[in-house]
Amino acid sequence: MQIKEILQLSPESQNVVVKGWVRTKRGQANIVFINLNDGSTIKNIQAVVEDGGIDEETLKKITTGACIAVSGILVASAGSGQAVEVVAKSIEVYGTADETFPMQPKKHSLEFLREKAHLRFRTNVFGAIFRVRHALAFAVHKYYNDNGFFYLHTPIVTASDAEGAGEMFRVSTFEPNSAPKNEDGTVDFSQDFFGRETSLTVSGQLEGELGAMALSKIYTFGPTFRAENSNTTRHLAEFWMIEPEVAFYELEDNMNLAESFVKYVIQYAVDNCKDDLEFLQNRLLEEEKSKPQNERSEQTLLEKLSFVVENSFERLTYTEAIEILLKSKPAQKKQFQYEVGWGIDLQSEHERYLVEKHFKKPVILTNYPKDIKAFYMKQDEDGKTVRAMDVLFPGIGEIIGGSQREDNYEKLMTRIGEVGIDPENLWWYLDTRRFGSAPHSGFGLGFERLVLFVTGMSNIRDVIPFPRTPKNAEF
Ligand code: ATP
Ligand code: MN
Repeated sequence: MQIKEILQLSPESQNVVVKGWVRTKRGQANIVFINLNDGSTIKNIQAVVEDGGIDEETLKKITTGACIAVSGILVASAGSGQAVEVVAKSIEVYGTADETFPMQPKKHSLEFLREKAHLRFRTNVFGAIFRVRHALAFAVHKYYNDNGFFYLHTPIVTASDAEGAGEMFRVSTFEPNSAPKNEDGTVDFSQDFFGRETSLTVSGQLEGELGAMALSKIYTFGPTFRAENSNTTRHLAEFWMIEPEVAFYELEDNMNLAESFVKYVIQYAVDNCKDDLEFLQNRLLEEEKSKPQNERSEQTLLEKLSFVVENSFERLTYTEAIEILLKSKPAQKKQFQYEVGWGIDLQSEHERYLVEKHFKKPVILTNYPKDIKAFYMKQDEDGKTVRAMDVLFPGIGEIIGGSQREDNYEKLMTRIGEVGIDPENLWWYLDTRRFGSAPHSGFGLGFERLVLFVTGMSNIRDVIPFPRTPKNAEF
């Protein structure tokens, strides 16, 4: 049985075996307390070794980090802090850990733990984060399954660049120094593994659209890769993205889906990760104590999560947002680093002003200028904007980016020409607009940004087991 299950039993002096990693061992003259954790819950189980119950030799091997199996009887605990404990009758030591084990029972900085990513799972904070991450991933699948969506596996190796941004990782089997060349000296990719230039995908959307044009409602949930050199607390080079794509949905339906989906998965975590979220909330409260009063957050983590679930997201157009920003105090006082004006790509400082200062709730911005958005977004009648929607969250900024897609073949071809994409490379995508085209919409949610929000962590490197960022792929 896992510790989570054992902690729920009523103690009747029954025999139990608990297996786990030693968090602490406290010894007194004739009694020793061992705290064990097996990752099934944030809670430890206490094993009690009564005088002479276990031989000295074995006891000596039991130190922080060791892995042991305790056989004993389950009794009501005499101490406070736990309802039950195990009185040890025998202990098997699976693996010892000497004093160089880095996860000693004291406070470690998150930076330190990042350098020990192979062992940081064994701390309370990372145990909590990865259990919450799991619950959110499960809730994603549950939400879409319950709502008639099909999980579509789009390729990880691709020959297309969905965003036309050129920030992709190349996939090749060529030796770097001896790649075959064309006469003009460029690399001859026709001789490469796939017979063409290929990369790791930045998005499953284009293939997702192909699925939606037959299955109606699909979603993807897979790894995506971006070779952008953004060393921020919100960017990874490898991250997981959830991308629903739905036939017959217009922008309004797309917004409704995004809002209902995000609220559902947050509520799922609140309902299923109570102990972990309370732990993370207390961690934040501790952290806040070292901040000046005016920088402390007004809401606890759980209050913030409930607030998002219970209130409707503010919806407005990009143009309306620009007007608000132009009239804002920081714009008047020239406190924004980047100047505000119609046509700019909103910076994080602008998004955060709207969400955290002006509306004080999640915001959905729509109808962005077409020049700052991808070629596939449906053009508005005004010829200037497209049916884009970004969902902005407090503390995070953009958590979702999506749009209604251009379903008109001619308009799409014109736009592709304007942005300089070779239609030859996208013939298969364009075919959906030639054969039974339909209005459709979708979006991408960055999974780690969601996990950041729900756990209240502040660096995206702490919510994925092994972060990939510029100059960092150690584990
Ligand atoms: P940003 O402006 O924050 O870089 P983006 O506009 O490049 O985001 P999209 O291409 O719309 O983002 O991707 C959809 C979603 O994927 C984003 O809303 C965000 O949640 C997430 N995302 C994008 N880039 C990253 C990244 N490098 N690391 C983690 N998540 C990301
Ligand atoms: Mn980006």
